[in-house]
Order: sequence, then C-alpha cells, then structure tokens
Amino acid sequence: MTQQGGNGSFVFSLDTELAWGSVHQGGYASHEGEFDRTRYVVERLLRLFERYEIRGTWAVVGKLMLADGEPEPASVNGASHNGHFQWRSAGEDHFWHAPDIVEQIRSCAVPQEIGSHNYTHMIMGRPGSSPEGFDHELKASKAVAGERDIELKSFVYPRNEVGYLDVLARNGFTSYRGVAPSWTWRVPGTIGKRIARLADHFMPTAAPVVQATNENGIVNIPASYSYLHRTGWAKYVPIGARVRKSMRTMRKAASSVGIFHLWTHPFNIASDPENLLGGLERIFQEYKRLNDSGLIQSRTMTEVAEQVMGPAVAKAEPIHAKS
Ligand SMILES: [Zn+2]
Repeated sequence: MTQQGGNGSFVFSLDTELAWGSVHQGGYASHEGEFDRTRYVVERLLRLFERYEIRGTWAVVGKLMLADGEPEPASVNGASHNGHFQWRSAGEDHFWHAPDIVEQIRSCAVPQEIGSHNYTHMIMGRPGSSPEGFDHELKASKAVAGERDIELKSFVYPRNEVGYLDVLARNGFTSYRGVAPSWTWRVPGTIGKRIARLADHFMPTAAPVVQATNENGIVNIPASYSYLHRTGWAKYVPIGARVRKSMRTMRKAASSVGIFHLWTHPFNIASDPENLLGGLERIFQEYKRLNDSGLIQSRTMTEVAEQVMGPAVAKAEPIHAKS
C-alpha cells in the first residue's frame, strides 16, 4: 500500500527526445540502435512504474509529440527547426515523431506527468538562442501539448543549460530541473569532468540529496544523479555501481526529508536494456521498501513545486492521465 505522506521525495525525470538531442552534433548514426529500442524501453519502464507505483516526469520535446506530416498549430508560426531536416534520412521519421510514446505514457495505470524539453531541443547559450527564441519554443510546445489536453508545467533544459528563467515562469511553468550540486561539476574542462564523473560512480558515497527552492516564482528541483547509459566510457561502470549509489541516495533522502532526483533518457536505457532495467528495478524495490515504511514518496516535479509554492500558486493538476 502506497503511503501518501512520506518525508522524503523520489523524483524521476526522463528527457524524452529520441533523435532531437543530436540536432546539435550533425548526425545520430551511432545511436540508431538505441532509438530503435526506445519504444520497447518506454513500455518496460511504464510496467515497472505501475508495479512499484512510481510517478515519472517525462520531459518531452514538443515536436516529438507531432505525428509525421501533422501540421503545427497555427500559433507556432515557424519556430526554428534547428536545421535537422538537412541530414535526416528517409524512413527515419519514427526517430523524430512519437505521438505514440506520449500515448503510451498517458495510458500508464499510475498517473505520470508530461513536461517539456523545449520545442526543438534549443540549448540555452548556444548560437541562435535568445529570450525571444526561447519564448517561441515554449509557446509552440504549449500549443502542441494543448491540442492533446496536456498542460505543461515542468521543464527540463536541454543539456541542463539553465537560462532565461523569467521567460519560463512567464509561460506558466512552475518548476525546472536544476544542475546537480555535485563536486564533479566543479572540475575544470570537459575531459576533467568526465574523469571525475567516472571516478564518482565508483565512490562508496551517496549522490547529492537536494531541496527544492522557489526562485522568483519558479521552483528549482536540482538533479541528484544521472542513471548512466552503457556506451563509450560508461561501459566500464558496472550496473551495480549505479544501483548502489542510487540506493544510498534514496535512503539518505528518506531519512533527511530531502529529494532524490534521478534522471535519464529512455534511449540511454536502450543502450543495454535488460541490464539497465534490471538495475532500475532494484532501485525501485528499495524505494518500495522505504515507501512501505512511510519514509519516502514518489512525486512528479509539479507535485514537488506545489509543496514549495502551495497548490494555489502552482495551480495543481500536474497529472495528465487520459480523462
Ligand atoms: Zn535533451
């Protein structure tokens, strides 16, 4: 029986983008297998969420919600396409359009939240990004979601590059995922950070337990820990290392009235589906054990925002189960 109270919170956000994250690097050839397996992974994840009563927050790229060839809402009026059409191949529309995934999520027996991961995965601070461009992306995302009776309230910044918070708040968003307060971010240089992150996975320490804070009308729910894919250097990190660190962080969040904010991309899990899903199930078993003792509760990002701001401000209704 799920407890309704719970001191700590377990938040799980999923950057749901398929190929959209690769628009910035000019190709996605090395990820095609992962994209092909993503729908299977989403299905498996949803069954786990049902079994362990977990409410995920799925941050979906706006254009991914459109069916291939479906016209954009009239109000969108030419939002940037990030140039991806120049190099995408025929027959790969299912890497760019996935209204079926949105429907999969909405049919989960445990209500899930659908949030935003921008309209075309525009990254803050990169050439072409501006407050006006961001405003356009958010309005386009809300228009497409609105046509499906989905109200977007939570936001995950592409590449975790946070910016223009005032624009986000003005567009009715109440929360965003902030950067993890991990020591690895303070290590200089990309290579240095990568080595630090690799080392951190092997350390017998918990990831940061975070607190949600109201920043001028929008709630920052920082990440704790990224559930790592198994490609490249990450192949050398055993599944058990991810599981141990997550379980430690879950226990710490439960005992300290904090938040364990886990995040990943569904296609990351598709890099080694059975092993990575198996690892997640062990983490969810630990969640269930602590939840049964009344120590922690699975919450969507909007539910956490409501706790901080109050439902009147956050306007509740975070869950977009089919009605
Ligand atoms: Zn992304």
